[in-house]
Amino acid sequence: MAAVEDHAGVDDELREQLECNVCTDVFLDPVTTPCGHTFCKECLSRAVDVRNTCPVCRTVLLVGSCTQIPVNITLAGVISKLLPATLAARRERAAEEAAGTLSTDGAPDAREGLLPIFVMSEMFPHQKMQLNVFEPRYRLLVRRALEGNRRFGMVEYDRGAGGMKSLGSEVEITKCDPLPDGRFHVTIVGRRRIRVLSSRVQDGYALATVRYLKDDDEDLVPCPDLRVIMPDNLRDTFTQIETQEDATLMPMLIQLVKKVAHEVSKTTVKAINKMRADRTPRSANHMQLMMFLHQLAGGVPLDENVDADALSWSLAQTTQALPGGFAPGGENEAPSFLRISTVKERLKLGLVGLWNMVGLATKLCETLDAEGTPDGAGGETEDGEGDDGMDEGGVEEHVEEEDREATEASPETPDPSTSYE
Ligand SMILES: [Zn+2]
Ligand SMILES: [Zn+2]
Repeated sequence: MAAVEDHAGVDDELREQLECNVCTDVFLDPVTTPCGHTFCKECLSRAVDVRNTCPVCRTVLLVGSCTQIPVNITLAGVISKLLPATLAARRERAAEEAAGTLSTDGAPDAREGLLPIFVMSEMFPHQKMQLNVFEPRYRLLVRRALEGNRRFGMVEYDRGAGGMKSLGSEVEITKCDPLPDGRFHVTIVGRRRIRVLSSRVQDGYALATVRYLKDDDEDLVPCPDLRVIMPDNLRDTFTQIETQEDATLMPMLIQLVKKVAHEVSKTTVKAINKMRADRTPRSANHMQLMMFLHQLAGGVPLDENVDADALSWSLAQTTQALPGGFAPGGENEAPSFLRISTVKERLKLGLVGLWNMVGLATKLCETLDAEGTPDGAGGETEDGEGDDGMDEGGVEEHVEEEDREATEASPETPDPSTSYE
């Protein structure tokens, strides 16, 4: 095959006219801005990630419309006619660079892969989150993910080490709204657990080699001995059901979770009613705590066909958010549900977390009962009225709405000046 050669008539002066100001290479997919300057499509996108002005004349550009400027077909045609060899080499370099930045494998049975990492907060499989992506490096990460398999890693920022934690989740972009100023509103869903094996910085963000964790992975641990922290009445139930085969045990665990989640709702509503009737300033904090517990329990999916794995991760979310936290840790690892090996173990742990919520609410109810109101009997009557006056279902609906808003609020990304190790 004859080698493709550049047109002999192109002198240096003409060649210079066909070069991008940003990469100083021949234009690849040339786009022309409203101010009349031309850049490679990718070069312009990356330039406006950092500053929304034209790299040549500093005219302010609308970033969102910038990334949608169509390629200048005439100019692209002229370049491919005059400089076919230079263009082919340029395209190859660009492809190599992109290949090194995309997530390499979305296959469900892959054991290891390459993932760009968004360092922010802990995320579990099945968990949904909305992100407001404004940092240039993460805008680039999201744009690249959208061009590939829409996946990246989400790992919690590690304050202690000043980098990122080693356990996290692979997430998938399920919805993306680009904003005119270049930011993205994306909805992501956790897919599977990952462990970061090694990472390097690529264009500002971390690109990591990760292992996809399976339930039987050696990195994971079984549930710690719950009997230490388990209340007596739950311990008996556990002792009874733990002798069962997994096939019988799982539905039993799910039933138990449903029962206890309902118990949390009931007890917290009771406490909330009591405090509404009470109306003393001292109950303001308690009221907030109760509303919070009520919302947490409301987030546990309890429909008929709930998937055990999804349920276990929603419990992880619920109990991890408990005041004071509630999750097992290892010696070298911050406490996290991500370390707990199987669905069964996570269900057990989540159940104990839920049960602790019941305990908290009950204790508060008892305290309020014991304190009463200054004139004694008056407290009883007011409590009674409060219970009658407040419809349980009404509270639940209202609170669930709030809960949904809370889960969908855009969390802030960590300080842009933080770096990875
Ligand atoms: Zn360029
Ligand atoms: Zn310009």
